[in-house]
Amino acid sequence: MTVLVFLDSAFPDGRIADATQPQLRVTDTGITRGDGIFETMLAVGGTPRKLQAHLARLATSAEALELDVPASEVWERAISTALKQADDDGELVVKLVATRGEEGAGATAWVLVSPLPEGLRGQRLSVLLLDRGYDSTVAQRAPWLLMGAKTLSYAVNMAAVRYARSQGANDVIFTSSDGKVLEGPTSTVLIARVIDGAKHLITPQLESGILPGTSQGALFTAAREAGWELGYGPLVPGDLFSSDGVWLISSVRLLAEVESIDRKPVKVTPELTAELGALVESVS
Ligand code: PLP
Repeated sequence: MTVLVFLDSAFPDGRIADATQPQLRVTDTGITRGDGIFETMLAVGGTPRKLQAHLARLATSAEALELDVPASEVWERAISTALKQADDDGELVVKLVATRGEEGAGATAWVLVSPLPEGLRGQRLSVLLLDRGYDSTVAQRAPWLLMGAKTLSYAVNMAAVRYARSQGANDVIFTSSDGKVLEGPTSTVLIARVIDGAKHLITPQLESGILPGTSQGALFTAAREAGWELGYGPLVPGDLFSSDGVWLISSVRLLAEVESIDRKPVKVTPELTAELGALVESVS
């Protein structure tokens, strides 16, 4: 069952609406320009995971777009209304969306709670490295590109996934035009290296214009407590092939093991996948 709750100043806990009926105007700039932001998180047993991290990133995205969105408490109340209405003890996907709204009218904002898509988890990924078309220093030079904000304009990301599928792969790792490893279209890249018995977990550095992953952030905190050494890029494709494991991580699919990149095998270490998978499950 899909539940829709609009953030509406006349309804402090949010306004429940029918997700099967038309609800948006065709002139909403979220639709006409893709001008807006979103967050996607997982709820387990009626409780959203990493809620504060998602709300903090939503606020950062809003700031980057100079978008006036409702305060975190208003989102929290609407999320709580939606999850109560969904009344499901299992896993649900919670999506927060805020658009710039009608020209001159202020943001349109809603929460959508829907079932977890089937077959999402436990896949080993064959990945293509695809050029994102930017160099890794563009975020600092060109803030108007909104690198690092989670905007609604995901058409390029989805096109990259379709391209990978047309080539027989099932996901993508973007690279910058200066040859650095960036991120997946909907995920953060992680690699592990075991050096003299010490386990290192490494992710590309944020300054390269990637989205700061809430899953990567939470996993790093848990991994440090579990004795891992942490590192932040820069990574180049060769680092993926010389690692002891490569994963893509995100809030709904969680940890997904990569088994090949550009049709060449990468090292798969099931014990590391199991250990990191358990750490991911433990963070909320
Ligand atoms: N990078 C991009 C481009 C994403 O779209 C996402 C999530 O959708 C991520 C990384 C992973 O972020 P999170 O772990 O917060 O889900």
